[in-house]
This record gives sequence, structure tokens and C-alpha cells, in this order.
Amino acid sequence: MTAGASGDSIAERKMRFLYALRSRGVTDARVLTAMEKIDRGAFVKGLFADRAYEDMPLPIACGQTISQPSVVGLMTQALAVTPRDKVLEVGTGSGYQAAILSQLARRVYTVDRHRRLVREANEVFQRLALPNITAFSADGSRGLPDQAPFDRILVTAAAEDPPGPLLAQLRIGGIMVLPVGQNDAVQNLIKVTRIEDKVTPAQGDKPEKREPRYDYEELRPVRFVPLVEGMAAD
Ligand code: SAH
Repeated sequence: MTAGASGDSIAERKMRFLYALRSRGVTDARVLTAMEKIDRGAFVKGLFADRAYEDMPLPIACGQTISQPSVVGLMTQALAVTPRDKVLEVGTGSGYQAAILSQLARRVYTVDRHRRLVREANEVFQRLALPNITAFSADGSRGLPDQAPFDRILVTAAAEDPPGPLLAQLRIGGIMVLPVGQNDAVQNLIKVTRIEDKVTPAQGDKPEKREPRYDYEELRPVRFVPLVEGMAAD
């Protein structure tokens, strides 16, 4: 049996990991099953690998972070993913969140502005045999117009406001979960649901007009790295 620095086995640590998720409000059975199956240890490298099963955010390459597992669970739960869904994740980072989503959705697209993170995440996806994830390097604040519309969008970096292109790429009935707020100030996790368009019927020579409409719900305070526009150098 493999023992970590603290002397307990990986199996014991994984059990505590799942217990911590439940006690922090991750109660959805499908989400818990996905988080039991996908080994967070595969996404944390080097110095911090030993702490993969703690409910803590940890540093990854390019000065970014892998999110706290309970936050991953709560965000995934709020997204209410169904097996038919095509999902976009903005902010691949380590790839952990995308791997969880891959267990719940039909197809997952994930993008990051750091090419290196996308390359390394793709290696893990291959190793774990997760063929329904496609990872790209791209500026996710513009969404992924070629694959739109999406049933679900999850943003794992904080913007001041929900980016317009992402709102536009959400299907009617679709849900987007994202942190919003100023960098390093209070951020809030919000859930945006695209409801039926407002339709103004054609009148005289004016054509019918359709305007998208959204419902907003605040979920909880969170802390994420900022959503930065444009590609990174590495
Ligand atoms: N979901 C990740 C954690 C993401 S950390 C995981 O499970 O590990 C946030 C990520 O968002 C970082 O990797 C950062 O590079 C990325 N990011 C920030 N701004 C971005 C943008 N405009 N487009 C794409 N990715 C972005």
C-alpha cells in the first residue's frame, strides 16, 4: 500500500477527500461518482503531488492554480450537466475540472490561453483515456464560435462581468456558471440561465425582433485567478 508523507494510505486519503466534499455541500450522486473516479493526483505534479487529496487549491504551471475540489464539485453541481450536453470550459488549467465534466456530459471543449497547460492537460486526458474532451489553446473570453451554441458553459477564471460572447454562445435553456468580480476583491459565483428570447412580432415593414434574455442567480463568494484577454506567451 502506498503511504504519503502523513503516513496514511492513498485509499484513506481518498476516503477523507470524498467525506470533505460531502460535508461542504457536494451531494449530487453523479458528481460524487465522477469525483471518486477521476484521480486528482494525476493532475497535480511535483512538490504538491502529495497534497492532491486535500480540499485545497494548489499551484500548477504558468502561475495558475488547480481549484479547490469542493469548489469544483459545487460548480459542477450548479451546472446541472446532463448526458446529452455539449459543454465549454474556459480555463483548462490542470485539466481536472474538464475531466470531471467528461464523466457527466456528451462532449467537453476546454480552452486555455497558456499553450503549455493545454499540452500537459491533453497528455493526462490521453493517459486516463478520456476521448470526449477536446482541449485547445485559445482566448476563452471570446468563447468558441465554431462549436457554439453550448448547453453548458463553465468559466474557471474571474471576469468583471459575464463576457458577451459567452452569453451569446449559450443555447436557450442553457446554463453558465462563472465567478465574477474584481481581481483580488470579493468575487461571486453566479449561475446564468438563458431563458426564451423576447419576441417582438413583425409590424408593418419591421421584421420580427428577437432579443436574448437571461436569469442571474448568486451562489456563493469564491476566489479565482483573473480571466485575462489574449493569448499568453507560453
Ligand atoms: N479549471 C482548472 C483551473 C483553472 S485556473 C483546473 O481544473 O485545474 C484558471 C485558468 O484560466 C488558468 O489556467 C488561466 O490560464 C486560464 N485563463 C485565464 N484567462 C483566460 C482566457 N481569456 N482564455 C482561456 N483561459 C484563460
